[in-house]
Amino acid sequence: MSESKIKKILVANRGEIAIRVMRTAREMGIKTVAIYSDADVHSPHVRYADEAVNVGPAPSNQSYLKMDRIIDICLELNVDAIHPGYGFLSENATFAKKVAEKGIIFIGPSTHAIEVMGDKLAAKNAVKAYNVPMIPGVNHAVTDLAEARKIAEDIGYPVLIKASAGGGGKGMRVVERPEDIQEQMQRAMSEAESAFGDKSVFIEKYIGSPRHIEIQVLGDQHGNLVYLFERECSIQRRHQKVIEEAPSSVLTPELRKAMGEAAIGVAKACDYYGAGTVEFIVDENLDFFFLEMNTRLQVEHPVTEEITGIDLVKEQIRIAEGHPLSFSQEDLKIKGHSIEVRVYAENPKENFLPETGRLETYKIPQGPGIRVDDGFEEGMDIPIYYDPMIAKLVATGENREQARMRMLRAINEYEITGISTTLDFCSFALKHGAFISGDFDTKFVQNHFKPEYLDAHNEEEETIAIALAAYALEEKKKATNRADASGQLSKWKLRAKQ
Ligand code: ADP
Ligand code: ADP
Ligand code: MG
Repeated sequence: MSESKIKKILVANRGEIAIRVMRTAREMGIKTVAIYSDADVHSPHVRYADEAVNVGPAPSNQSYLKMDRIIDICLELNVDAIHPGYGFLSENATFAKKVAEKGIIFIGPSTHAIEVMGDKLAAKNAVKAYNVPMIPGVNHAVTDLAEARKIAEDIGYPVLIKASAGGGGKGMRVVERPEDIQEQMQRAMSEAESAFGDKSVFIEKYIGSPRHIEIQVLGDQHGNLVYLFERECSIQRRHQKVIEEAPSSVLTPELRKAMGEAAIGVAKACDYYGAGTVEFIVDENLDFFFLEMNTRLQVEHPVTEEITGIDLVKEQIRIAEGHPLSFSQEDLKIKGHSIEVRVYAENPKENFLPETGRLETYKIPQGPGIRVDDGFEEGMDIPIYYDPMIAKLVATGENREQARMRMLRAINEYEITGISTTLDFCSFALKHGAFISGDFDTKFVQNHFKPEYLDAHNEEEETIAIALAAYALEEKKKATNRADASGQLSKWKLRAKQ
């Protein structure tokens, strides 16, 4: 076998994802370099690495986003490759280009793929030739109000105005009525300009009851591409995920294959290599539509690792070294079920407002089927400068119900004081009848959650949950009967029962 070219990796990130990447590097016998800002001097990722370098003051534009400084460190320390994690510079084509120009390996796709998929409009246009279902809408930037009005009328309200350069759930506006289109267009454009430095927006149909289901892909530099099945990411707040699971309870083997093949089409459209995620919206008829492609490792990648047994970071590194994939589509199988909850420093009672403060108590759960990817320790402060995610808690079992019960057990063991987190909300969601039955969409929070539910005493909460579950099941039976008679019930609601 050819010898590994990569002997030292710099991880251009912080927190849980920096440690996640370094763990695999260490298993592969690769040395690691951490970078950190003044706010992260005491962070576990700094201690975990073989070497660590301070890159500047706390604000990310003075530290984690300093491209030239990061590249200089690589040259000084003889680093062979950079892993960008997610967020920060991970989807920055300029950075990828600069890294390559200095002879350093960027662990990720080509600059071309990042450029095409980083822009939602460019992405839509690139995949056109690949027979990928698209959300009804336009594929060009719209600035003219009269044109916007005409497009919205053609598509039919409600419509969604989206920033082409958008990301992280930002830059989206729903327009319900014609009289609001003018104002919302103006707002969307100025928001896009200030958030992303690009005021291009486009308009698409707003899907009323969507599920967000995404496909993990892996490709090597020799043209081989495979899909590692789906992740169900419909439990969201602010258009951002909080609970993810794999597999999804609504995909049939046929639909899984069709979505997997569509995802491969998207990847082919930009000659993709590395690990990537193709996001889709699935509507009530189980029709699916391309949303966007994320050209990096995703936050929720662990659930895919758990059900496929594949270390995605190891594959990323091997692909970056030029190795062909060591498995084919036929080798890949789904085993069991895995659920991830994101533990954010946020207050679910205050509309999920991010919080800062100290982790007075911090004790993680353990035991069978539990994985915690985190980047903090007891006594540490959660800085205001970065994403407020503290940890990812992953529970895996033989089937969905075992994974769900395991997750509830683990949430119960997790001890965090000094700061509000999303754990209570996640526990509520996992006990909810809609989650149990699999009958939910991206509006779970709006439709099923009220802050006062979290105040209920634990026992009381459980009684409510059990009652809700029984109620949901009863409703489902009735609905199934109704649907059998009228054929009107949404298909996923029926399939979710099977
Ligand atoms: P995932 O699909 O992997 O869950 P998220 O949308 O949750 O991705 O984003 C992952 C991280 O990257 C978050 O910290 C988010 O704030 C950040 N992020 C994603 N896209 C952008 C962007 N275009 N600009 C700034 N930050 C982004
Ligand atoms: P981002 O780059 O911010 O991740 P996405 O295009 O992936 O943007 O959309 C993020 C979320 O917004 C989706 O998971 C979904 O909940 C919602 N969303 C996006 N497009 C639509 C649409 N056309 N109809 C309904 N919901 C949508
Ligand atoms: Mg997205």
